[in-house]
Amino acid sequence: MSAQILDGKKIAGEIRELVHQEVKHLLADGRRQPGLAVVQVGDDPASSVYVRNKHSACEKAGILSIKHEVPVEISQQALLDLVDALNEDPTVDGILVQLPLPAHIDSETVIERIHADKDVDGFHPYNMGRLTLKMPLLRPCTPKGVMTLLERTGIPLEGKEAVIVGASNIVGRPMTLELLTARCTTTTCHSKTADLEAHVRRAEVLVVGVGIPNFIPGEWVREGAVVVDVGINRLEDGTLTGDVDFEGACRQASWITPVPGGVGPMTIATLLQNTLKAAEVFHNA
Ligand code: NAP
Repeated sequence: MSAQILDGKKIAGEIRELVHQEVKHLLADGRRQPGLAVVQVGDDPASSVYVRNKHSACEKAGILSIKHEVPVEISQQALLDLVDALNEDPTVDGILVQLPLPAHIDSETVIERIHADKDVDGFHPYNMGRLTLKMPLLRPCTPKGVMTLLERTGIPLEGKEAVIVGASNIVGRPMTLELLTARCTTTTCHSKTADLEAHVRRAEVLVVGVGIPNFIPGEWVREGAVVVDVGINRLEDGTLTGDVDFEGACRQASWITPVPGGVGPMTIATLLQNTLKAAEVFHNA
């Protein structure tokens, strides 16, 4: 089998265009431009790239993007004060604090400080809880982006055996909840999982978000599986690669995401969708 490509770049482009059209309608109705505040602590190069990409995607979709770059030594209290100010700012519909934060700042405290109706990353316990209870509002961007990619490609999910490798709060855990809600039978694997290979070999839908280049050998992939590689790893030569051996997996899978051009663009497109939703549903832009 030679896998077909799950084209995140193309589908993300379609989503971004839909958001842009909707923003134009809002403005034509005399309503306020949706606004996203992005907070970056320090100048980590990878974070700077992500923040730049999000900022530029917002601008292209007609969403006002306000960057707050604060020094790496900012105190936790000063960062919380900034979040409080953004919570109260009526021009801000979404607040995104770029992770990871420096070690002296407790990420969970900062995330929890963001008002749930401005939590466009979907990481607040309220939004994660709603996802757990099948009552989603603002859904974490990467897993929601994966669901949109699968839905718009026409991949059936109901009743499928889904295996998620990685159990982080931003990828694996909410991904499991999304696939469970879509009526898959889910297994979530992590660093203490015994016999990972046996689990992966069972997967009809395999989602991997671990952060180790080529971690899943292609021959582990079940014949005909749908493979979603969330991993983004920068190699020494500067190229990006995923967590799955792409060449090997292509011989087994029916569908597969490339890295780059798979999940990454979907995450950004979903952030725009969430910001628009926060503006329309919660803040009546
Ligand atoms: P993370 O917080 O470090 O979590 C990694 C997960 O992988 C953990 O659950 C960990 O298990 C598990 N793991 C580590 N070693 C393992 C092993 N040997 N066997 C099985 N599981 C193992 O990472 P993350 O933030 O979720 O990110 C994961 C990857 O996704 C990274 O490459 C990141 O760059 C990428 N990412 C991409 C996007 C996108 O838009 N495409 C968005 C976010 C992240 P434990 O829970 O036991 O520690």
